[in-house]
Amino acid sequence: MVTNLLDFNGEGLAELCAGMGEKPFRARQLERWIHQSGEADFDRMTDLSKAFRDRLAACAEVKPPALISESVAPDGTRKWLLDVGSCNAVETVFIPEVDRGTLCVSSQVGCALACTFCSTGKQGWNRDLSVSEIVGQLWWANKALGATHKTARAITNVVLMGMGEPLLNFENVVTALDLMLDDHAYGLSRRRVTLSTSGIVPGIDRLRDRCPVSLAVSLHAPTDALRDVLVPVNRKYPLAELMAACRRYLDAAPRPFLTFEYVMLDGVNDDPALARELVGITRDVPCKFNLIPFNPFPNAPYRRSPPEAIKRFRDVLMAADLVTTVRKTRGDGIDGACGQLAGQVQTRTRRVFGKGSSAALQ
Ligand code: SAH
Ligand code: SF4
Repeated sequence: MVTNLLDFNGEGLAELCAGMGEKPFRARQLERWIHQSGEADFDRMTDLSKAFRDRLAACAEVKPPALISESVAPDGTRKWLLDVGSCNAVETVFIPEVDRGTLCVSSQVGCALACTFCSTGKQGWNRDLSVSEIVGQLWWANKALGATHKTARAITNVVLMGMGEPLLNFENVVTALDLMLDDHAYGLSRRRVTLSTSGIVPGIDRLRDRCPVSLAVSLHAPTDALRDVLVPVNRKYPLAELMAACRRYLDAAPRPFLTFEYVMLDGVNDDPALARELVGITRDVPCKFNLIPFNPFPNAPYRRSPPEAIKRFRDVLMAADLVTTVRKTRGDGIDGACGQLAGQVQTRTRRVFGKGSSAALQ
């Protein structure tokens, strides 16, 4: 069987190389070729011995998911659609800003959690992404951006905010996180890698113990009654338990606060009274708020809150000394905005693979 080296973190590569009788520094060289130079051809890894390269070629490969398409929005946001087999596709979005470049990475094909405002949730869960499919998103983006960004590293931040619930694909996600943080791979600072979760309480605790990165929690409502509707997994992990897990996480977090995300839905969760309740429930959790104007998708049951409502809501949080930002909607023209990612995949997949093959994403 051929081993895909993109499925291994640094430790795994070191073990693999040791098994082949190679010194640890060879594993690190190999890792840099794969992840920093984006090299998939062992023959071009010229500082490895010919014998080692031949042995690698006989049993291993560097196989990222195949690239289906790349699109660039007028604001510079780029989106890559990657083929993950069986007519499934996942999306990765790069958002360039003046002082940083953020890559939004997917962790699953679809999502089982069925949040009512989320296009990915509407599709249902298809399967978890493998390590190589998660890391492959960075691999492709790094390679594509390397062609245009000659000087500094293009990707400075990664957010696990694409398709899927990362804490429900725990092992593969943390192995991919290892590579994001590894100086011989993507070398990102722990503070600049953010995992976003809908609030999987045991997963938050495991992440704290295994690989604490910056955490964003999708809150969306200050009461269990409303959150039960918007984020159905709240019935399993209600707000009091979630807030307790957030407090525990902060003991190990790379920043002394976490971020609460709050999608702004017109007339549903945008009343200033709810903002006051939010202040109450987050009192013991050092945090920032990120308000996300709802991104519509076909047949969505909600509308985006008007700008005045978002401002009123923000003002209540700020008056209580909570740092609050309103997310700028990026990548709209290419359906690359939050929560829009899955919506168009089926149709694109259908277009790319021909009629009748879109069932895989349902
Ligand atoms: N499953 C994880 C991460 C992926 S979703 C989570 O739920 O946190 C990433 C973010 O996009 C979440 O905060 C989610 O609530 C938000 N989101 C989902 N659908 C959206 C939509 N239609 N408009 C705006 N934000 C949305
Ligand atoms: Fe899944 Fe996150 Fe979408 Fe909820 S918001 S359905 S958890 S991807």
